[in-house]
Amino acid sequence: MHSDDWLSVQAEIHPRRLALAADGQHWTFEELDEAVDGLASHLAGLPVRSGDRVALWFWPGAPLVLLIYALTRLGAVMIPLNTRLTPAELAPILDNAEPAWILHQPGASLPATEASRQKSWADILAAPRRPFVRAPWDWEALNTIIYTSGTTGVPKGVMLALRQHWWSAMGFALQAGVSATDRWLHTMPLFHVGGLSILFRSVIQGSGVILLPRFDVSLVAESFRRDEITLVSLVPTMLQRLLAADVPPPKSLRLVLLGGAPAAPDLIERAWRQGYPVAPTYGLTETASQIAILDPVDGPAHRGTAGRATVPTQVEIRDGERTLPPDTAGEIYITGPTVALGYWRQPELTQATFRSGWLKTGDIGQLDTRHYLTVLDRRRDLIIRGGENIYPTEIEQILKTFPAIADAAVFGRPDPEWGQRVAAAIQAVGTVDLGELRHFLSSRLASYKMPTEYYFVDQIPRTASGKILRTQLIAQLAEHEG
Ligand code: AMP
Ligand code: MG
Ligand code: MG
Repeated sequence: MHSDDWLSVQAEIHPRRLALAADGQHWTFEELDEAVDGLASHLAGLPVRSGDRVALWFWPGAPLVLLIYALTRLGAVMIPLNTRLTPAELAPILDNAEPAWILHQPGASLPATEASRQKSWADILAAPRRPFVRAPWDWEALNTIIYTSGTTGVPKGVMLALRQHWWSAMGFALQAGVSATDRWLHTMPLFHVGGLSILFRSVIQGSGVILLPRFDVSLVAESFRRDEITLVSLVPTMLQRLLAADVPPPKSLRLVLLGGAPAAPDLIERAWRQGYPVAPTYGLTETASQIAILDPVDGPAHRGTAGRATVPTQVEIRDGERTLPPDTAGEIYITGPTVALGYWRQPELTQATFRSGWLKTGDIGQLDTRHYLTVLDRRRDLIIRGGENIYPTEIEQILKTFPAIADAAVFGRPDPEWGQRVAAAIQAVGTVDLGELRHFLSSRLASYKMPTEYYFVDQIPRTASGKILRTQLIAQLAEHEG
């Protein structure tokens, strides 16, 4: 039976268009399609079978991209592993996923699970080539399991089928349009949905991908000068570094998707002033990447928001069962075709999070009367001091505008009188005079929000997508206090 996947369709309609540049090589869609067929036949020789779960431990590069497309072609389920995790952190994920295979690059740091399930890139290429049957097209077939960046509790493997990837690409296309000259600069890890979704967009929309091995200011600047980049996805820390290094946006650049973590309004304003067409976004692994995008054209009129939900996704703000009116903060709920199938082998967690088609996000936000979404914070990071809700993100963003502060994290500490008090960890680039800092904050923050404890740290720990690892930070501070 003949069945066309997205890549083979591009190979037919845009055979000579650039599909991928990575590791100093490039592939047209036709060449990529052939390379993927070749790799799929080696995988079939291992054998990888349709429906097999296959974990991937690779840094961004051509092997990982080819594997992602080849596994999709075979109908296998890929599990891109976070290469920043230690073997001890990967162990519970692999226990939960029970992959048939763990494919890895040389030097991968994996737990010592059965060696027979682990195959290196060289092992894969040494496997005999076997003819394989392309997976028949099935929108609901499980394609990806992504373990989210959560650092506490049980592993949460978000299940995404081809449908979710397709609608994520469509939501973006309906918002941003598709152009024959589109070319993505890819600087994100591929184990997060933000990075992975760019590959799906590439083969669904026929846009090329320039894949960098990692985010690096000079590599980005070079690609901006050389590659006619039109699209790029960044997390706030990356944008911050580009601005700090005065990297000019190329004329060809039409959109910068900014997401993954809260972005300081000041950062977005500066980027706009420097000519970066930044579109703040909001989304989760559980929605197969961003589901709200603020068009930079609307930006100034709706500053501070992440824009409106992409068609046909809907957002509601709720308090328990009750839907809240506009301009009222509550929990963000999402429904639409990109909402994940659930968490792999976590029925209770799935039931608690995915309720009759609605995703309970765990984030706090509000909608205005025109449906623009403001994201305030993660529900579990909220500090409640004497009954007042305090959003750490708001305070962090103000702290970061103080000259000698490079980065900051705010968190609650148990307090006998108030229930919780506000503490701040500060990464300084010089000396911070606490008296001056308090004075600075007092003109910008209500007194109940003022931090009453300060800790100086070398580095605020963050995930690859830029999120503060608050649990880890608090543990580090506790260790220090001994
Ligand atoms: P993940 O858990 O890795 O799937 O990332 C999703 C989470 O990132 C969301 O639940 C939010 O807490 C956070 N996030 C994503 N976009 C934004 C945004 N624009 N502002 C604040 N937080 C965000
Ligand atoms: Mg999450
Ligand atoms: Mg993320």
